[in-house]
Amino acid sequence: MKITCIRSHVLQYDLPEELGYSQQFYARRTAHLVEVSTDEGITGWGECFGPGTVALANRTIVEKVIAPMVLGDNPLDRDVVWHKVYNLLRDHGQKGMPLQALSGVDIALWDIAGQVAGLPLHRLIGGAHRTSVPAYGYGMMLKRQSVEDHITRFRDEAAAIRAMGFVATKMKTGLGARHDVRLCQAVRQGVGDDFDFMVDANHCYTTPDAFYVGRALEELGAYWFEEPVAPEDHDGYRELRAGLSVNISGGEAEFNRWGWRQILENRGLDIAQPEVCALGGISEYLRVLALCHAHFTPVVNHVWGSAIAVATNLHLLAAMPPLPGGLNPREPMLEFDTTDNRFRDALLTEPLQIARQVAANAGRVAVPQGPGLGVVPDRAFLAHHAIDA
Ligand code: CA
Repeated sequence: MKITCIRSHVLQYDLPEELGYSQQFYARRTAHLVEVSTDEGITGWGECFGPGTVALANRTIVEKVIAPMVLGDNPLDRDVVWHKVYNLLRDHGQKGMPLQALSGVDIALWDIAGQVAGLPLHRLIGGAHRTSVPAYGYGMMLKRQSVEDHITRFRDEAAAIRAMGFVATKMKTGLGARHDVRLCQAVRQGVGDDFDFMVDANHCYTTPDAFYVGRALEELGAYWFEEPVAPEDHDGYRELRAGLSVNISGGEAEFNRWGWRQILENRGLDIAQPEVCALGGISEYLRVLALCHAHFTPVVNHVWGSAIAVATNLHLLAAMPPLPGGLNPREPMLEFDTTDNRFRDALLTEPLQIARQVAANAGRVAVPQGPGLGVVPDRAFLAHHAIDA
């Protein structure tokens, strides 16, 4: 069996309204899918993390750099392909876009392997520890509006996300530490006292400001405090984790086993959030998962992007062993963006219908059962949303 073609599909549309987080506002949604074709008629799909113009750069890496290295290789030799590409690109980037690009190719090779074996991805990995996964709904994005309007909207939106059936919710911060504490109070008010909420700062704080917000989160009983400081600030992470009782989470901007080894050995994370479409694909995710568990750090995958990324993560979350185990362990959750996402909701020939599942099944989502990823993009949808280089 041979790889005959590797093609990127970069999709984009204008969002119905502008959305923001602590770093920027954005008005378009982008997705980058990777299609790997073989000489036996089997096609695999993957996805690369990276919004906007980053997706265009990653497309060039996929099609002009990685594809020539691996055309003609056996797609079932996915670990051989991974190391061949990584070793040849090492001198040009051990993190960031080369790894994002490799991730999409690697995920597609696992999709092919599942189809050849006739097994869903979760069984190929080792089996399902759970047949459905609880989902948390994130929303409460920043907008160009006043602090007071943010507060009212966050309280109402938090209540609305709980009413949709999700098992927990997650908010953004980024108006400045003092205003942000008021946003967190509003979200606690919105969801009530008996519901988990999490706070995502997208690394906008200095360590002292993160302590200020973190102490308020202890009072409010937030479940986790995500990316409080810059991902390179290992000292800040370690000090925050040692000084706060709220769980410190992060890792979506970290890559491969060597990057993860550093942040785990630094002891700055209570909860690890690896991004399979960025850190190096499924092959590398499984090694990072093992590293996290070796450090007794529970994992809740970072999930972003299209239905390909969501399906991949549903398999990975199903196949994740409980840590540390027990009758009633904390289960990993599926991250679900409640804002408009056509690439998740309308991409597939048979949509996953996650919001409907959440509403009907007490916040839980079924794991796909078809071979490989078990999902197929609709060709007409791809053609309609594709953008040129
Ligand atoms: Ca995040």
